[in-house]
Amino acid sequence: MPYKVTFWGTRGSIPTPGPHTTRYGGNTACVAVTGGPDQLVILDAGSGIRPLGRELMQASAMPMHLDILLSHTHWDHIQGLPFFQPLSTPGNSVRIFGAPQSGIPLEEILDRQMDPIVFPVPLKALAADLAITEVDGGAFEVHGFRVEAFRLRHPGTTLGFKLVPVGGGRTMAYLTDNELGPGGSYPVPDNWRDQLVGFLGGVDTLIHDGMYSEAMIEARAGWGHSTPQQAIDLAVDAGCRHLVLFHHEPEHDDRVLDDLMSEARTYASDRSSRLTVDAAIEGMSLTL
Ligand SMILES: [Zn+2]
Ligand SMILES: [Zn+2]
Repeated sequence: MPYKVTFWGTRGSIPTPGPHTTRYGGNTACVAVTGGPDQLVILDAGSGIRPLGRELMQASAMPMHLDILLSHTHWDHIQGLPFFQPLSTPGNSVRIFGAPQSGIPLEEILDRQMDPIVFPVPLKALAADLAITEVDGGAFEVHGFRVEAFRLRHPGTTLGFKLVPVGGGRTMAYLTDNELGPGGSYPVPDNWRDQLVGFLGGVDTLIHDGMYSEAMIEARAGWGHSTPQQAIDLAVDAGCRHLVLFHHEPEHDDRVLDDLMSEARTYASDRSSRLTVDAAIEGMSLTL
């Protein structure tokens, strides 16, 4: 059965509203994966999850059953959660999956984001039924998908997710905040890239961090992100059909992103005739 992937937030690090980002979008990371009835998986809870929540409240039957997969708990991946209306609605059930950080449980991290010294409503006051499950790699099931998690090269424990539809169909992977270049030192095995290519093998659509331009990457080595060309190399090696570049640098306005995309498409067409490369655009939907 086909499913739909919608980009509600495409930006990295911090929201960038304004006239210079109207086309690619200013909300931080959030992608919704929707299939049949009662099937909604949300990838990350950046500021894009707020408008998603508003639409769900208007368009969905109540109560809702939602799954949220968190790549990690940097601000730009959790900052929308306190403003996600379905969490404030009695009867809804929300399951959150993600990794603990430095021995601190995931629930405590989400709780701290809503501490009274920085936010007026505590996590425990939200009315929906909230279940938090810690995952640190491996496989688990959510509504309609088998999920496989893979440890990425990024500060903290950061997970990439592969979604395999339970009833068969095209697979997708969501790998944001991932350093494919040699910079940084992360607790991953020496053959990490080979393992990653194996993990992705056969994935139809890959959403991947393409934050830095080729001109920036040397100065940002070790910051945990990649360039479009590095993401294209990975997509080609893993045999993907479609690469969507994600987690746009906040200093890149629409015109800079147009230029980077044009360079990326030229590079991709030199590398492979079957790979399509796009930039994530807020509001864009794909059908898989
Ligand atoms: Zn990020
Ligand atoms: Zn991050």
